[in-house]
Parts: sequence; C-alpha cells; structure tokens
Amino acid sequence: MRHVYLDHTATTPLDSRVLEAMTPYFSETFGNASSVHWYGQQAKIALEESRETIAKAIGANPGEVFFTSGGTESDNFAIKGIAYAARKTNKNRVVTSRAEHHAVLEPCERLQEEGVDVCVLPVDGNGLVTPEQVKEGITDSTCLVSIMHANNEVGTIYPIQEIARIARECKVLVHTDAVQSIGKVPVSVGELGVDLMTISAHKLYGPKGIGALYVRRGTEIESLLQGGGQERKRRPGTENVPLAVGFAKAIEIAVAEMKEEMRRLASLRDALEARIRAEFPAAIINGHPTERLPHILNISFDSMKISLEGDTLLMNMDLRGIAVTSGSACTSGSMQPSHVLLAMGRDPRTARATLRFSFGRSNTADDVESVVEALSDVIGHARSKGRA
Ligand code: PLP
Repeated sequence: MRHVYLDHTATTPLDSRVLEAMTPYFSETFGNASSVHWYGQQAKIALEESRETIAKAIGANPGEVFFTSGGTESDNFAIKGIAYAARKTNKNRVVTSRAEHHAVLEPCERLQEEGVDVCVLPVDGNGLVTPEQVKEGITDSTCLVSIMHANNEVGTIYPIQEIARIARECKVLVHTDAVQSIGKVPVSVGELGVDLMTISAHKLYGPKGIGALYVRRGTEIESLLQGGGQERKRRPGTENVPLAVGFAKAIEIAVAEMKEEMRRLASLRDALEARIRAEFPAAIINGHPTERLPHILNISFDSMKISLEGDTLLMNMDLRGIAVTSGSACTSGSMQPSHVLLAMGRDPRTARATLRFSFGRSNTADDVESVVEALSDVIGHARSKGRA
C-alpha cells in the first residue's frame, strides 16, 4: 500500500542535513556547555552559534532567545512567567482566545485557579479574533495578551501586528505562539511587535524536544525552574547542545527555502481543496479563506447533510494509507470534538467529522489524487452502510 503522510502540523521528519549537523554533538563534542574546560567551551560555542542563527531567523538578538524543551514549555514559561512577575505591579489579568493551543489554554486555567483574572475571547466563524476584541478585553490590570500567530488546526493567521500595536498603547505585553507559522510564512518579532514568542523545532524538520522562547530585552519574566544558572538563570538545566544545533540548522533551511516551498504547498493545498469542493458537497472548508497558512486544509462534513463518525473516518483513511488527523495532534488521544471548531460555531457532530490535511516537503500532486480516491472510497462505504 502507498503511504501518504499529510500530518506535518503534528510533526515533521528530521531533515537529513539537520541530522548530519547534529551528529557530532552527541559523541565527539559532548562537553557540558557550562564547563570551563576545552570540552565545555566547544559545546558552548556550538550552543551560542545556534542561538545566533535562531535569533537571526526571527529578527531577534541572541540574548533574547531562551532554549526550552519545546512549544509547550515555551508557552507555559511565557504565560506563567509574565503573570508571576506582574504580581509585583498588581497587574492580574491575562487576555487570550478560545482558539489557542492547549499549551496556552491550560496554563491560563492554572493561573485562574491561582486567582488570576483570565479573559478568554470568543472567535468568529473563521477562527479569528479581532484587534478590537483584544482592545475591549484589556483593562488597567492586564499584564499580558497571548494570541497565537497561526492556528494549528485550521491555519488561520491572526492580525498580531495590529493586536501588538493596541497592546503596546495600553502598556500590555504580547505573547504569540508561532509554532505553526515559523518556517512556513515570514515571522519577525520586530515586524510583529511582540514581546514574547514561542517556537519549536519539530514542526520545521528539526528534532523533537527543543524549542525556544523569545523574550524582548528588558521584559520582567519569572523563571519556572530553579537549580542552575543556565540560559541566564531563566531556564536552568544542562543545555541540550545537539538539539540546539539541529534546531538552528532546521530553521536556517526552512527560512532559506520558505518562499518556494510556500508556493508549492499552497498549490497542493488549493488543488485538494478544489477537488473536495467539487466532489463532496457536504464538505465545509474550515479556517480563514485568505489569511491562512499555505499548507493546512481542514474540512468538516456537515452533519445536516451526511452522517459520519470522526473516529471511523480517520481510521478508514489510515487503512487506505492516508495519515491525517481529526483535530489537534496533541489531544488526538481523546476523541473530544476540537475546541477550536466548537469555538468557531461548528456543532459537535460536524466538528467530530473533521479531517485536517497538512502538507510538507515530501508531498506531491500524486498525494492529492490518493487522498481524493481514499476519501471517495470511505464516504461511499459510509453511504452504502446507510450512514449517509
Ligand atoms: N503550540 C502550537 C500551536 C502547537 O501546534 C503545538 C504542537 O502541536 C504546541 C504549541 C506544542 O509544541 P511542542 O510539541 O513542541 O511542545
């Protein structure tokens, strides 16, 4: 059977050039980057060069990049770190949206349990939050606005530049989760105007288990860990040099190849969208029609027109060799309808009957044909069983 991987939003394979760059740092250059001897210094040089490369890719200074274990940790660090530091100034409100990743929503819930006033803004039918909504959500006691750069489920890109401008006027810090947009569309902290930004390596053909948080110079943030002086005391723990080297190589390649790849992925995505629109009248395309990532296509089957079970839909696609997801990969262990689609106004049955296709480097036009074939087969099978 031909296998087609269309789940690059969940994770991407490690690029062979990245593996090659990382390999010496597992064995030959194995020193602890905090050691003062030659071995340690070799590792330290590689770590700092990696930090520089990553900083350059996002338009930051190297001293503003803090390595973490990934997107989840960076989101937690940004949100709790700012909220805890703001206690000193009695600023006790955080503004976010219902379409955020759980790595943002759950730390916010934790803060709420700890007495922080958390405002979770609704989103419209395209998953969008407007700058005006953010403005209304901000009060004198707000310390942080956290709105993602691009949505991991439906691909909608948020007006962060405008949101950041409004927040800055109100002297409120802005965090954005750019895990899905970095390496896919241009991302620059200066242009976006954000104070904190989350990125992760494994979504851009780098290794799993490493990410970074950009923290604008001068921002008061509390460390969530204690126990060492690494990462300028903000994120203690022995630095993971091979993964940092891999992250740097991956982001360098992704940025260098982005323009051409964006165009290629968008054309594959558009070809699949056109075929689905033509052949499956019950399909609804989720996400913003124009302001969205080039590689994500999220479709739901309208429960008023066709009765499909989300979990069997996914399983049946998998049985035909098509690897996709029905919601956020990070929560796909449970078959709860996606909180993002519910927030966008989809009914629970329609939200469950959803497939997210996310294209990447290995995909070709043949894959579009394979998806359409598999989907026709799966939908036809459901109809013959009287479920449509
Ligand atoms: N934020 C977003 C938008 C994501 O899509 C993900 C992962 O899917 C994360 C955060 C978590 O990143 P990581 O897997 O590196 O912890």
